[in-house]
Amino acid sequence: MLFDEVALYYEKLESISSRLEMIDVLAELFGKASKEEIKLLVYMTQGLLGPPFDSIETGIAEKYAQLSVEMATGHNHSEIINLYHKSGDMGLVAEEFRKNTKLKRMEHTSHTVNDIYEKLIKISETSGPGSQDAKIKLLSFLISSSSPLGARYIMRLVLGELRLGVGDATILEALSKNATGDRKLKPKLEDAYNICSDLGNVAYVLATKGIPGIEHLGVILFSPIRPALAERLPTAEEILERTGGTCSVESKYDGMRVQAHFNKESKKVRLFSRNLEVITEMFPDIAKALLEDTNCDKCILEGEALAYDDISGTFYPFQETVQRKRKYGVEEASKRLPVVLFAFDLLYCDGESYLSHTYSERRKKLSEVVGKGSVIKLSEMITTSSPKELERYFTSAIERGLEGIVAKDPRAPYIAGARKFSWIKMKRSYKSELSDSIDLVIIGYYFGKGQRAELGFGGLLAAVYNQKRDMFETITKIGTGFTEEQMKMFKSLLDKIHLKKKPARVDSLLEPDFWVEPKYIITVNADEITRSPMHTCGMNHSGKEESGYALRFPRIISDGIRKDKGPEETTTTEEIIEMFSQQKKTKI
Ligand code: AMP
Repeated sequence: MLFDEVALYYEKLESISSRLEMIDVLAELFGKASKEEIKLLVYMTQGLLGPPFDSIETGIAEKYAQLSVEMATGHNHSEIINLYHKSGDMGLVAEEFRKNTKLKRMEHTSHTVNDIYEKLIKISETSGPGSQDAKIKLLSFLISSSSPLGARYIMRLVLGELRLGVGDATILEALSKNATGDRKLKPKLEDAYNICSDLGNVAYVLATKGIPGIEHLGVILFSPIRPALAERLPTAEEILERTGGTCSVESKYDGMRVQAHFNKESKKVRLFSRNLEVITEMFPDIAKALLEDTNCDKCILEGEALAYDDISGTFYPFQETVQRKRKYGVEEASKRLPVVLFAFDLLYCDGESYLSHTYSERRKKLSEVVGKGSVIKLSEMITTSSPKELERYFTSAIERGLEGIVAKDPRAPYIAGARKFSWIKMKRSYKSELSDSIDLVIIGYYFGKGQRAELGFGGLLAAVYNQKRDMFETITKIGTGFTEEQMKMFKSLLDKIHLKKKPARVDSLLEPDFWVEPKYIITVNADEITRSPMHTCGMNHSGKEESGYALRFPRIISDGIRKDKGPEETTTTEEIIEMFSQQKKTKI
């Protein structure tokens, strides 16, 4: 398949304002790809060059992209900068100057999808002295030998800014539609995706092995499994009711979730964050302990990593643990504040998947696997049928500086990628305020008035994710509580992703001054959830009852953008509705 044809589909996708139409166009596009191409095409459509956890980056920054356009088209630096400042999109700049090139027109080569992919990989693999020049030359060649429209999307892919507004669920539905003519295969495809976190691989298995291949897709060591998530309930009684009268209760540690994959034979360890980024470098001590202090050869286990003082029994705050994100000082930090992995689940061991085993069985195996070392410890756990005992355990967890508890249904399998009542969290509650913070995705922003006009930033329009509809629904505007520094930071980040029209997967009755690509997550606290006709979160779209849910007095609690979550990992509409009903119960 020619990349020019893909570019035409991408252009069409950009102009569409309905999600269903988007699925039709994508399905048609996937239908044109060969079995060999489909994997690459799916990655490209995600704006990536491989599965997200492989983090393949071209290493081309804006400045080098500008130099490539200069080299490819003969236009000078200031012409390029001017147009870039006007459009804010290097893709459009490459397209425009490719159209009006000042150089002798190079033969327009009909690059295939494979060609383009291989060249982009080559750019990403070019390293060492002189590599920037080599990268610029390679990109310049691609721009000058492609069609103008092709150049637009190549440039955006190179910079990691494809911005088609297509989400994972949209791609899964399009794959289903292409394979069977309707969207009914999506749940099966989603199960396969939850096991390997690699949409390209799901598409490839479907194309080569059909539905049976998808049904039998097993755990792949070193490909992360999408993490199980916890529901919330406010009382011990409700928790026990949901778990059939008995549950296992673990301490809820406030650190970083780690999914650890290791193979002792090849001495390979890979640690993934909750967001499936590779974070092995942050925790060399955990990687070492996995190879030395465990009782199995190949394994996938999960736990919470946090700085912990074994002697005094002190758990250090999350901030201390994440400081290790900075590459420098990891070694220094491990000496000063040792990190412990409190293991709480086991998903695979020595050739056998444990995903469909019950929690009790997984926990038994986990306790055999975790050795006696000081770096990897079993999470604390009791099993109980008594609400009183559950409450006591919760109170003692809080007293010891923990966040609360996570109760687990002993009968339940590991439910990858979903929030179900097999795990239930209970945290400290803050009386009059909502008992939990809420993660929102920014979908637009407003100009400032008065003093803020100078900064060009007046506030945010934010949304939650509705999983059933695969849409972002608005829940609040946030106009107060920003520091000047934050306003500047938001303005500069959001300017880079602003869009001319509302994205197809955003549902909003409000019109901000600027729409932005749903990309950045913020965490807020609010006083309560109220019903509101202004916001689309939880609106009954079929009937006439047109009231949604909104946040009262929202205030940002994170320093800025949360980097460990993607737009589909915000608090969901379902959770908001659940929190609203719990809030009503508490008030009565
Ligand atoms: P939350 O992020 O508030 O939705 O809570 C779920 C998170 O709690 C998980 O993603 C884990 O990172 C963390 N956690 C801490 N301790 C445990 C535990 N014992 N079992 C499961 N999750 C835990």
